[in-house]
Amino acid sequence: MSVPPAPRRLLTRLRALAAHGPAPLGDLVRLVAAELVTEVCSIYVLRPGEVLELAATEGLRQEAVGQTRLRVGEGIVGLVAATGEALNLPDAQNHPAFAYRGETGEDLFASMLAVPLRRAGRMLGVIAVQNRNPRRYEPGEVEDLETVAMLLAEMVAAGLESASEFPATLPNAFTATPLAAGLALGPAALHGPAAPPAITLAADPQAELVRLRDAIAAMRQGLDALLDSSFGPIPQAQNPELAASLEVMEAYRLAAADGGWLRRAEAAIASGLTAEAAVHRAASELRERMRRIANPYLRERLADVEDMAQRLLTALGGEAAHGPAPGAVLLARRLGPAELLDWHARGIIGVVLEEGSASSHAAILARALGLPMVAGAEGIVEAATPGDEILLDADEGQAVLRPEAELRQAFARALEARETRLAAHAVMRDRPALSLDGKHLSLMLNVGLALELDRLDAVGADGIGLFRTEIAMLARGAVTDVPEQATFYARVLDAAGSRPVVFRTLDLGADKALPGLAHPPEQNPAMGWRSLRLGLDRPALLRRQARALLLGAGGRRLAIMFPMVATVAEFRAARALVRAEAARVRPAPASLAIGAMLEVPSLLWQLGPLLHEVDFLSVGTNDLLQFLFAADRATPALATRYDLLSPPVLGMFVQLIERARAAGVPLSVCGEDAGRPLEAMVLAALGFETLSMQAASLLAVKAALAATDLGKLRTFLDALLGADDGAASLREPLEAWAHENIRF
Ligand code: PEP
Ligand code: MG
Repeated sequence: MSVPPAPRRLLTRLRALAAHGPAPLGDLVRLVAAELVTEVCSIYVLRPGEVLELAATEGLRQEAVGQTRLRVGEGIVGLVAATGEALNLPDAQNHPAFAYRGETGEDLFASMLAVPLRRAGRMLGVIAVQNRNPRRYEPGEVEDLETVAMLLAEMVAAGLESASEFPATLPNAFTATPLAAGLALGPAALHGPAAPPAITLAADPQAELVRLRDAIAAMRQGLDALLDSSFGPIPQAQNPELAASLEVMEAYRLAAADGGWLRRAEAAIASGLTAEAAVHRAASELRERMRRIANPYLRERLADVEDMAQRLLTALGGEAAHGPAPGAVLLARRLGPAELLDWHARGIIGVVLEEGSASSHAAILARALGLPMVAGAEGIVEAATPGDEILLDADEGQAVLRPEAELRQAFARALEARETRLAAHAVMRDRPALSLDGKHLSLMLNVGLALELDRLDAVGADGIGLFRTEIAMLARGAVTDVPEQATFYARVLDAAGSRPVVFRTLDLGADKALPGLAHPPEQNPAMGWRSLRLGLDRPALLRRQARALLLGAGGRRLAIMFPMVATVAEFRAARALVRAEAARVRPAPASLAIGAMLEVPSLLWQLGPLLHEVDFLSVGTNDLLQFLFAADRATPALATRYDLLSPPVLGMFVQLIERARAAGVPLSVCGEDAGRPLEAMVLAALGFETLSMQAASLLAVKAALAATDLGKLRTFLDALLGADDGAASLREPLEAWAHENIRF
């Protein structure tokens, strides 16, 4: 985008005003009122709590500055902030949204033109001009004020940075979505372009262009140096930890290669901005556009671009991004993978994001690094000052800024108790997974990145019950070729040694969209063209993956399972593809087990033929429950509405276990529920002998198992199920039973 031509004199004078750093807002409004020939010019800035405050005015009463406040949505100014649209009103006082604020003395002014001040996709406030005469402002005047607003947004932001008269001292609690479990308490470190450029308008566009190009070259060099020094040259990366990070970083390089936004920065320089302001502007425009993209995977790439914008600003001579932050909790709007690695190296203990999803690169890395992380804490960056204490509960999805002493003490106690519990669990690592009454269980891991493979030994897992092959590809941003896949799978098997590994074929689609695989837009992507359906319609994809798995196995035993099987015919077709590859690849695997995930309820009514065909079955409760209850697993409002611990689900499991046992087919559970101690005990009591879960849960489940008499629990369960009175959940009586009977 290029900046529309604004009145040259105004631009020149604005530049002069901003030449020595942030200009006082009072000077800005005076200048704009004089140049645009209006009787009033006011700037309202957005404060935490969605309040717009009159921060400077020319023409209204000065006593109102800092006093007049409007909620977003209230009054003309509030409406402009809420909608992001300018309003041009000849008779503002008779507009239905008008809210009278007598202290301003605004009764004198009939007409009003109000324009939002936005920077980096965020609403900063509103600039409004007013005149006594009732008149509609000309299109040229509207355009001028919009241009001024764009430039002012940068300057207002700079002014706000240096304004200390509005200290943020109120406690603030934010509800967020947990992305990586854990608790953290520490001072806040703020990520991101903390200080907007002090000087936004440049005298010599040509010189700015040269600065930008030099900075781009320096940034790319710096990035390469960072990757090489952190991970070594790519082909020699044998260490699985490094290799996993490389998967993520490679995808990041892809984003660096997209120069579209850099070209837009060049255009902004041509229209008068400094290189710094132009980079801000280009990144914010991109953010605006990407906000409208529904695809969560593509939206996540935005974090990568912002990561780069920040590096570019540093290369332009800004502050070296950030110093050490041991024990700090990082607050960020978004976070790219390189930034997360940077911050992790500086010693942060948790992350709170305003935007981000479980499938983001940063979230994948955070889980692998064991760093608690939440997202969706909207407004937290603006509400926080560096060093503010922050309390993060990433298990429950809570972040509290400047907590009261009592809350902080309670949290510190919970943190200590958790650490004691974890230490107690650590002793379980080398013990067999045995219940109090002597039943043995296989406790396996769900894994997706090479980085997680060392967890196998760290928690003493019996193997990998679910290897989500698509995660590494999502992190990399592409389906990798056969040799690369084969090397990766071989490494997984090497890490597992004699322990079994179940590889799940690509489960792409829905929220796991991969660039390069064309996905037609769908109304219900979770029930759409995804997973095995995609694999069967693109058989080359599935066959290549099967070949890579067979090559990776290199003569060892191999277990492959298909996700989202809905019919026995689909299973047969997929198995035929795998077997066709197995007939060719040498050395042949020592054994080849081919199984299915039970995630689509239709399979429950095909158990006869299904159990006849499969070598094993694994219940994916995440998907199975969302389809059983018709409740989207990603909708927070439904997260606790339907329960695995309920008569329909448990009753169904009783029959499923009976049928699988009669057919001699191994049966496991690999959904999230398998990693929750109470659910895991109930599943074990019903007769599941293998549970697969995330590493962070395994020792807690093993500890619960050692303390539970499964036979007694089964008797209690049978009584509950026998007395089925239509209860939506059996959680309460089961929790009460556990409280009474499970002794740690
Ligand atoms: C499941 O659906 O339960 C499962 C384990 O698969 P995913 O969570 O990867 O969809
Ligand atoms: Mg699933």
